[in-house]
Amino acid sequence: MFGEGILQGLYETAKNFFGSYVEKDRLVTVQFPEERRDLPEATRQFPFLLYDGNDPEAGLRCVSCQICEKECPPQCIHIEKSKDKKPDFVGKPQFYPAVFNIDVSTCMSCQICVEVCPFDAIRMDNEFELSTSNRFAGLLYTKRELAKSNDYYRKIHPTEAAECDERRDKEAEAAKAKAAAAAVAAAKAAQAAEQQTPPAASTPAASASSAANGAAPKPAEQPAEKKPVTQ
Ligand code: SF4
Ligand code: SF4
Repeated sequence: MFGEGILQGLYETAKNFFGSYVEKDRLVTVQFPEERRDLPEATRQFPFLLYDGNDPEAGLRCVSCQICEKECPPQCIHIEKSKDKKPDFVGKPQFYPAVFNIDVSTCMSCQICVEVCPFDAIRMDNEFELSTSNRFAGLLYTKRELAKSNDYYRKIHPTEAAECDERRDKEAEAAKAKAAAAAVAAAKAAQAAEQQTPPAASTPAASASSAANGAAPKPAEQPAEKKPVTQ
């Protein structure tokens, strides 16, 4: 029938419109900002830096390799490498970023920085209420503003964070096992070297030296024989 589709569409609209007064599921809008919907896990806005533990400075995962800075298409990441090093999560000394800024006014949320980071140090945030009247400094995020905890990451991207934690735990275990094996091997090598070294007095070098000087080895001295006392 001509116009049947239009009538069906109007029926669906009317059903949802009147039904929304009695069924909350039929509502397609929420009273933002008082009401908020949970964001899908795959939501991404701008990047943030991950840190482990409670200290954003000590626990920052970034080792300042600057790969993300080079790969970022609009070049909105600026990093300055530290002069000294601090241990990473497996205890290896690594550089850290003395300065790490992202200009979110030019970031295009492409996630390339996340894809290229070999240290699981940068991830995409889902925070979207970032408007500010300060066009420049207000949108230039520094290391302090970018650093967010692993607990926060687990909250916004639980599946991805669980995979990341598992991978890092395995890497830490492997590094620990490798260090323990190296320590055992070093101890065994030291023990073997100690067993092969002869005592200093009877070394072949000492004997050769004596022979070269023509000195015959002295027999052990015998105690003098006692003579009988005559009166
Ligand atoms: S998301 Fe893309 S544009 Fe934004 S900082 Fe990362 S690489 Fe650069
Ligand atoms: S965030 Fe990752 S890729 Fe970028 S400098 Fe830090 S460790 Fe390197």
